[in-house]
Amino acid sequence: MEIKKNVDVTALSTLRIQASADFFAEPESVDELIKVVKFAKDNGLNVTFLGGGSNSLLSSRKIDSLLVSTLKIDFIDEKSETIFELGAGLKMPRFCGKMIHRSLSGAEFMVGIPGSVGGGIVMNAGAHGREFSDIFISAKILDLDTLKVHEFKHGDMDFKYRASSIDPEKYCLLSATVKLDYAAKDEIRERVASYNRSRTSSQPLKAWTCGCTFKNPLPDYPAGKLIQDLGAKELIIGQMQVSDVHANFFENTGTASSSEFCQLVSTVQGLAREKKNIELFPEVKPIGFFTDDEKKIWLN
Ligand SMILES: Cc1cc2nc3c(=O)[nH]c(=O)nc-3n(C[C@H](O)[C@H](O)[C@H](O)COP(=O)(O)OP(=O)(O)OC[C@H]3O[C@@H](n4cnc5c(N)ncnc54)[C@H](O)[C@@H]3O)c2cc1C
Repeated sequence: MEIKKNVDVTALSTLRIQASADFFAEPESVDELIKVVKFAKDNGLNVTFLGGGSNSLLSSRKIDSLLVSTLKIDFIDEKSETIFELGAGLKMPRFCGKMIHRSLSGAEFMVGIPGSVGGGIVMNAGAHGREFSDIFISAKILDLDTLKVHEFKHGDMDFKYRASSIDPEKYCLLSATVKLDYAAKDEIRERVASYNRSRTSSQPLKAWTCGCTFKNPLPDYPAGKLIQDLGAKELIIGQMQVSDVHANFFENTGTASSSEFCQLVSTVQGLAREKKNIELFPEVKPIGFFTDDEKKIWLN
């Protein structure tokens, strides 16, 4: 298993923020991943995991941990006709597509979420009123301290809105087992098509973004609507811009840095606080080094 040095990882996040990792590995199996983590531990390196990179802000300043991409651990192991164990790096839309062919329903919400099973569970990703926790049975989790693999059941996961108990600094999700239900293929296809239509008409899918930048502050007041009400739609800092299609999507219009992203987030948070007395919390997770000032966007 090769551990590469000074790797340009800009293309590994959907935001395409300029970034380079001091150390990078791309294990092809769970056993290889565990070996990589052990190597890091023996050599005093921290490990950071990256799936689809669709909810991560990579630092343009420095990533000095060993960045491990899970994308090659993308197996689907059939446990029964409706129960599947999924590798951490399997992309959610790919799983959804395969399930349509088998007339299995439950994964449709994944269709437009460009992340992996690991990232999807860490974030309890969801859309259209469904989320990962709805189909989750159990997960194999590597404890980064003891290097022991545990099985987490639903009750251990503490699933919440865009959150779970899996802290990526303490645990690596190796695989997850999910259960789907039989349904008519046409019905599943129509649901997927309607989800696709709704995304293409309301989200800047061709732009470099990390999807929704903020969690919705209130159940009946989505962050996108709030940002629009603040007059911040199309606000620009450097090469980062609040999208003119969906105000909760922030677009990298060229070669933006993580610092520009943080400045735009902080500016919008300040406006929400001043004008509406509302705190906005980023959905996106930081990877690598950020200054104390930049870190404040996750603290307020
Ligand atoms: C166009 C677009 C649309 C989107 N739409 C939605 C949506 O509708 N709903 C929604 O919920 N999200 C949406 N997102 C956000 C994103 O796709 C989800 O949050 C997704 O679950 C992130 O998965 P990922 O693999 O890309 O995570 P990454 O960005 O790779 O990682 C996210 C976090 O999880 C950690 N992590 C990743 N893999 C593991 C692992 N195996 N073990 C431990 N930690 C791990 C990382 O270290 C990081 O902290 C969208 C994003 C885009 C770009």
